[in-house]
Amino acid sequence: MKKVKTSSKGRICRYPRCKHILSIYNHEDYCHVHLDRLMQDYKPKVVK
Ligand SMILES: [Zn+2]
Repeated sequence: MKKVKTSSKGRICRYPRCKHILSIYNHEDYCHVHLDRLMQDYKPKVVK
């Protein structure tokens, strides 16, 4: 039997005014939209 690590249900994105409910498989504190945005803030200049 495989145990999949999940987070608790019913968590909401911590981004101000965002009511996005996070998946139990999303262990972050933000929804994917704001997570992307935060990541871009950390790495303002990504050269590919
Ligand atoms: Zn959000």
